[in-house]
Amino acid sequence: MRIDKSDTAMTKGRRLAAMLGASAAAAWGAHPAPVSAQDFSDVEFEVIHMSGNVWALISGRGGNIGVSSGPDGTVMVDDQFAPLADKIRAALMEVGQSEEAANPRFLINTHWHGDHTGGNEEFGPESAIIAHTNVRRRLAEPRQGANGVIPGAPPDALPVVTFDDAVSIHFNGEEIRAIHIPHGHTDGDVVVHFTGSNVIHMGDNFFAGRFPFIDLASGGSAEGLVRGIDQVIQTVPADIQIIPGHGPLSNVDDLRVYLRMLRENLEMVRGKMGEGQSLEQIQTAGVSEEWDGWGDGFISTDRFLATLFQSLSESGGESSGG
Ligand SMILES: [Zn+2]
Repeated sequence: MRIDKSDTAMTKGRRLAAMLGASAAAAWGAHPAPVSAQDFSDVEFEVIHMSGNVWALISGRGGNIGVSSGPDGTVMVDDQFAPLADKIRAALMEVGQSEEAANPRFLINTHWHGDHTGGNEEFGPESAIIAHTNVRRRLAEPRQGANGVIPGAPPDALPVVTFDDAVSIHFNGEEIRAIHIPHGHTDGDVVVHFTGSNVIHMGDNFFAGRFPFIDLASGGSAEGLVRGIDQVIQTVPADIQIIPGHGPLSNVDDLRVYLRMLRENLEMVRGKMGEGQSLEQIQTAGVSEEWDGWGDGFISTDRFLATLFQSLSESGGESSGG
């Protein structure tokens, strides 16, 4: 299915909002079903041309995928879940109009979460996987899951090129630059800027139109996220098109609203903590009317406020620098 972005933004946004409720609960809920137990048979990808060489593959199941397609081949940003690999390959062939397009030369992981890296084991044997140093470290480590210890990822699924600050791929006639956001959604996040096509993939630093999951246990921080997004907005062209980690395709105005939402709520919680209010008191008062609907998805208002509270407690409540 090939869709022009401008025609369907409204319906797509609504459909995505509905789908994300269920899928993200599976990815991050208190007791997520293991990927092997999830049914992926009904998942379909929308193939959306953004601008220049860049496309978005959106299923509402797992993180949004970014694709550069052109004479040099395919670069893919994130890969959702392993059972979706064949559907992703079919979408890549549709974008590139060739069989070779199905095997990306490079695959960038925006961060380690399984709904963005689950396909690594399928694509890794053919593609050079690139990610921040902490993504490889976290993927390689065994970790505690809801149903016991999850072993580290197999070697084929691990990034083979790692970096600390930024890395560029010169591909399809443009510079594709992955830039680290220190302590944002996790401690290994990047945004990926397609500099010639004027598109940026934000990874999970941006949940469009909803409260985000901030993974404090993986080194994320609410204040770091605010700093990182502010930096992005100051750096990119004002007319850039944006692929969020989750939610509908967006623009800089949408990202500004999101940043204001983060800042206002962070300052609100900081102020109340300064008055000695408990988390329960802050949750009972809730958020201002403007952000009412933002907690309807998988991160409820209570959970979001708890994350801000915990994040500020860990940082000692220093100012995020406005
Ligand atoms: Zn994530």
